[in-house]
Amino acid sequence: MSEAILKILGIRVPLGPFDCFYDDGFVKSLNDYSLFLDSFYDSNNAGDEPDKEVRGRYIVYNTPLKRNYHIYYLKSDFEPLDMMVRAHEETHALDGLGRLDLLSEKMLREQRVRADFLEIEDKEIIAGLGSIYAMFAHNIQDEFLKAGPFNENFRAARELYKKLKI
Ligand SMILES: [Zn+2]
Repeated sequence: MSEAILKILGIRVPLGPFDCFYDDGFVKSLNDYSLFLDSFYDSNNAGDEPDKEVRGRYIVYNTPLKRNYHIYYLKSDFEPLDMMVRAHEETHALDGLGRLDLLSEKMLREQRVRADFLEIEDKEIIAGLGSIYAMFAHNIQDEFLKAGPFNENFRAARELYKKLKI
C-alpha cells in the first residue's frame, strides 16, 4: 500500500487505492504552478490568483480513477516560516485524506494538547493548529514567532492551542 509522507508533521498516511498524494515542494509562483496543474489535469480548479500573503496551496484534482492531492509552497529566506507554511498545507492534506486523527493522537502524546478536530469547523484554524504543533515539534517556537505579523486565523489557532493544553 502506498502512503503519503507529510514531512514537517512527521506523519505517514496509508493511502486508499484511489488516492495519490504529491508534495510538489517549493515553486517559484503559486499562480503559475496552479495554472500548470490546471492544464495538466485539463481542469480549472485553481481559481483566482491567491492573495499576496498566501504562501502555500493545497488542491485536489479528481480524475475518473484517482483523487490527486497536491501541496506546494513558496520559499522564503526564513526557514521557520517555510516550515509553518508546509505544516499548514500538510494539515489541509491530512484533513482531505480524512486522517486528522493521526495528528490529534500525536498532539496528545507529544504535547499534551487535546484537539478534537471533529468539533472544529474552520479548516484554516485546523491547519493553523497543525502548523503550531509543528513549531513545537521542531523546537522553533521562539524563532517562529518573529515571522509575524500573523493573520487572524493563525492568532485564533494559537489561542485555541493554549486552551486545549491539558
Ligand atoms: Zn489554509
